Amino acid sequence: MTTETFEFQVEARQLLQLMIHSVYSNKDVFLRELVSNASDALDKLRLAALRDDAPGADVSDLHIELETDKDARTLTVRDNGIGMTYDEVTRLIGTIANSGTAQFLEELREAKDAAGADGLIGQFGVGFYSGFMVADEVTLVTRHAGETEGTRWTSKGEGTYTLERVGEAPQGTAVTLHLKSADSENQLHDYTSAWKIKEIVKRYSDFITWPVRLLPEPGEDDAAETREAETLNSMKALWARPRDEVSDDEYHELYKHIGHDWRDPLETIRLQAEGTFEYQALLFVPAHAPHDLFTQGYQRGVQLYVKRVFIMDDCEELLPPYLRFVKGVVDAQDLSLNVSREILQQDRHIRMIQRRLTKKVLSTVKGLATSAPERYATFWREFGAVLKEGLVTDADNRDAILAASSFATTHDADEPTTLAAYVERMKDGQDDIYYMTGESRQAIENSPHMEAFRAKGVEVLLLTDAVDEVWVDAVGEYEGRALRSVAKGEIDLAGSEDEKSDAEKEKQGEEYAGLLGWMTEHLGEDVKEVRLSSRLTVSPACVVSDAGELTPALENMYRAMGQ
Ligand code: ADP
Ligand code: MG
Repeated sequence: MTTETFEFQVEARQLLQLMIHSVYSNKDVFLRELVSNASDALDKLRLAALRDDAPGADVSDLHIELETDKDARTLTVRDNGIGMTYDEVTRLIGTIANSGTAQFLEELREAKDAAGADGLIGQFGVGFYSGFMVADEVTLVTRHAGETEGTRWTSKGEGTYTLERVGEAPQGTAVTLHLKSADSENQLHDYTSAWKIKEIVKRYSDFITWPVRLLPEPGEDDAAETREAETLNSMKALWARPRDEVSDDEYHELYKHIGHDWRDPLETIRLQAEGTFEYQALLFVPAHAPHDLFTQGYQRGVQLYVKRVFIMDDCEELLPPYLRFVKGVVDAQDLSLNVSREILQQDRHIRMIQRRLTKKVLSTVKGLATSAPERYATFWREFGAVLKEGLVTDADNRDAILAASSFATTHDADEPTTLAAYVERMKDGQDDIYYMTGESRQAIENSPHMEAFRAKGVEVLLLTDAVDEVWVDAVGEYEGRALRSVAKGEIDLAGSEDEKSDAEKEKQGEEYAGLLGWMTEHLGEDVKEVRLSSRLTVSPACVVSDAGELTPALENMYRAMGQ
């Protein structure tokens, strides 16, 4: 069979360079990534078999196998899972399909320091490539379950990789790392050492639901051939274990596996429902928003298991779209293993789970605001704009979402405020909650609409997310207080000392009638009305929209939401 050589995509090459000159300080995690991929491949095969979708596949002893060879200095991670076809290898391993990669590399160059880089790498799922942190050559041999031919991929991680079709290959995928030797620059552990392997698997992959077996090293004593492979992980589903038996670290490792993130989550949420419809949920709020959170193709949802059997990734029915950043697992006892997306969409129990999980996430976020203000601030910075979508789309949970929300305000340059705190600070005689939407805090603060409010010391919420235009209209009020835009309609700032009497107003109106008439005439079709206003203190004039009218930004937003 012929071996063909291909060049890596530019982005892939840059990423590999980063791996080789490892910006990531903890190199042990390469094994976690390979075991994680193997586990995914086994999940996929079992699922295909359940659906009678894998003719000819062998699912009798699904497992992950680790094999070391001290003389050859190799470590092999092998699974008998779904495997990859020749085309899949080219698509999945040879290129980086992720469109955000260019942006990632840009950010990475800007991050400069190792800590920043560590964080960024996690966002882009460079899992497989992490092998090049410890290996100067990687070989992957794979055969898709049910196919007869296999594929061999090799690369030294430089500019190129080779591909070759192979006749004989076991079902699944074997990744062999030709380990680098440690040098002064590279503080590498001996990844052929059994205890080192055991330690890493125990630490990072203990919860993996498939057995991870370490094969005995051949040679030395004759007994080696007859010795049994040792299973290194406990395979216990973390969500089914009592809270006090599981360490935070264990939860975090599960998050990294299912969230394809290298960083710890911001918050872990557990939920156990007993009774007629039993399920367990383990949810995670990430500490960073993924770069593609607002794109069409964003894979949302949590994993669905049925009685410990993985059923699907990204089960959208389990959480509403505005909680799409939440990762995790839901394990339901009473669903069929054959459950399809169509069935899930109709299922009453799934809707019940969704309601319960939604409330739990919202109350957890609200709780963070008081129990861990810094973590709450991180949450809000990363996910506030997404959460606010729920104010428009989920009327049932509107109050809970508002209670978990905070907003930039003229009251404090740095600290956002809750609506409750705003109301507490309201001046005597102030009935409404004032806000202004705009591109940025600065743009809003420079707006003439703000002048009177500043002069009179009336607090204004500064709303700069696209969704803000939409939710303020949809929500309308908070605890009986109207939400009022300072840029719309007539504003009557009650409680202002220099309020003019009606007689004075009338007199002023007569004085300016000529000017207003002249302006109305000259501005013609462009305006509806020209009137005197008390909202300005410095600027001579400003443009105001009618209270009930859509602003241009709002019109765009509705269109984007398909409404
Ligand atoms: P991720 O796991 O985040 O998708 P990786 O770089 O770890 O990213 O892997 C890229 C893709 O290559 C995987 O999504 C999967 O489709 C494929 N892949 C990697 N390892 C295996 C494996 N052992 N068996 C089957 N497919 C694999
Ligand atoms: Mg992976």
